[in-house]
Amino acid sequence: MNKPWYNETLFEHYGQRFEIENILFENQTAHQHLVIFENKQFGRVMALDGVIQTTTRDEFIYHEMMVHVPVLAHGFAKRVLIIGGGDGGILREVLKHNTIEHVTMVEIDAAVVEMSQQYLPSISDGAFADPRLNLVIADGMDFVRKCKEKFDIIITDSTDPIGPGEILFTDDFYSHAKRCLSANGIISSQNGASFLQEWEFEGTHRRLSSLYEDSWFYLAGVPTYIGGFMTLAWATDNKAYRQLSIDTIRLRYNNQPFKTRYYNPAIHVSAFHLPQHVLDKLELVTEVA
Ligand code: SAM
Repeated sequence: MNKPWYNETLFEHYGQRFEIENILFENQTAHQHLVIFENKQFGRVMALDGVIQTTTRDEFIYHEMMVHVPVLAHGFAKRVLIIGGGDGGILREVLKHNTIEHVTMVEIDAAVVEMSQQYLPSISDGAFADPRLNLVIADGMDFVRKCKEKFDIIITDSTDPIGPGEILFTDDFYSHAKRCLSANGIISSQNGASFLQEWEFEGTHRRLSSLYEDSWFYLAGVPTYIGGFMTLAWATDNKAYRQLSIDTIRLRYNNQPFKTRYYNPAIHVSAFHLPQHVLDKLELVTEVA
């Protein structure tokens, strides 16, 4: 008997599809349509508003790169703010670092946290029970607007700039987020696949380069974030972070009590090297900024 397929609707004229073995959860939450289903190729898959968010098979790539690049570049991060990240993958990787003393995670949709723990437990892997976590169910924009604390690292693991995630790609968000960042802090955020969503990284670069000494991007190859390399935004007032030697990164990595499956010091330093078409666009943005 033919099984149904889940067709991602991120792009109008192009997309990926997953054969659905079994739907584990599907509901219209207060903020978005949430579905979690099983697929023979990628294990358990979560999608929000028609866009693939994470799969149990390839989630480690994105979560390791979104976390270990800024945290190991910083070297002394104690306090981290996560905006979004409801599946708990970013939280899991942050809490592995022996320098981390506190994580505030601001997720707008409680249903994503609850259903991820129930149907995707391997992704958070118990991280939500960590005493260092302060979980806030709220709009990340409201949180940074009112925030009086400082964080060494801010990681925005949001949906794409559609629906509730849209506000997290605005000047307003980035300028308030900077107020919550400690001196020498680092901000990183998911910014889509640069080959197909170039307007995303162009807009982010325009916004971040007006706020920080160093606005850049780094790459990760995530199979289920289609369209080529996933482009992760990077911003800090400390330009030296991106110039760290592989030996420094390796020393810090080897001092950590965890192993990785995608991230390593060589990938860390090479991830900042961008394709020429991206460089050309960034230069253009900076020139007209
Ligand atoms: N790794 C995925 C990606 O790169 O597309 C994102 C995964 S994570 C599930 C995205 C999370 O962002 C969702 O849980 C969603 O509810 C949350 N989110 C979207 N807009 C938000 C907002 N304004 N404030 C806080 N969380 C938000």
